[in-house]
Amino acid sequence: MLGEGILKGLAETAKNFAGSYVSKDRLTTVQYPEERAPVFEAARVFPFLVYDGPDWEKGLRCVACQICEKECPPKCIYIEKSKDKKPDYVGKPQIYPAKFDIDISVCMSCQICVEVCPFEAIKMNNEFELATEDRFGGLLLDRHQLAKSNEYYHQIHPTEAAEVDARLAEEKAKAEAKAKAAAEAAAAKSAAASAGTASAGPAVSAKPAVATPPKPTEGEPKA
Ligand code: SF4
Ligand code: SF4
Repeated sequence: MLGEGILKGLAETAKNFAGSYVSKDRLTTVQYPEERAPVFEAARVFPFLVYDGPDWEKGLRCVACQICEKECPPKCIYIEKSKDKKPDYVGKPQIYPAKFDIDISVCMSCQICVEVCPFEAIKMNNEFELATEDRFGGLLLDRHQLAKSNEYYHQIHPTEAAEVDARLAEEKAKAEAKAKAAAEAAAAKSAAASAGTASAGPAVSAKPAVATPPKPTEGEPKA
């Protein structure tokens, strides 16, 4: 029937309006900013950079691989690689971002940067009160403004952060086991080489040298 959808929508609105006088669940709006609706765990606004430990700069997980910069559809991520290296979460020396800016006036909150990051270094924030009068400087966030601790990540996305922690711990354990096995193999190889050298001993000839008598020349009488 023509207009059936409109009638259904109006009926739903009327039901919520009347129901809001008797049940809070029927209240679909809140008196913002005095009141705030709860933010859902899956809510996403703009990206942030995760760091581990107390020092945001040392703890940034980002290794400036620039995959997110390349994959970002509106090209609003700007990264400059460092000249030196710092250990990553498994202790491997890595390049880090000397500069990492995101222009949130351009970002479209697609989360592609999060999906492509191999280091669990960039995640979506749910902070939305970001209005500013400074159109340029105010909306271009640098790495310090983007850096948020892993504890913060746990606060806003507890389920996802716990899964990431478990995955990183597993990868770290695997890397440590591999390094340990390699060290043990190297030590065993070196011990075997030392044992081989010791058993061989010095190179001495066992038989005494025997003098060969000279051959008789032609015409000379044989003894
Ligand atoms: S959320 Fe999308 S648009 Fe925003 S920085 Fe990430 S990839 Fe770019
Ligand atoms: S956030 Fe991730 S994908 Fe982007 S540069 Fe850093 S490590 Fe690479």
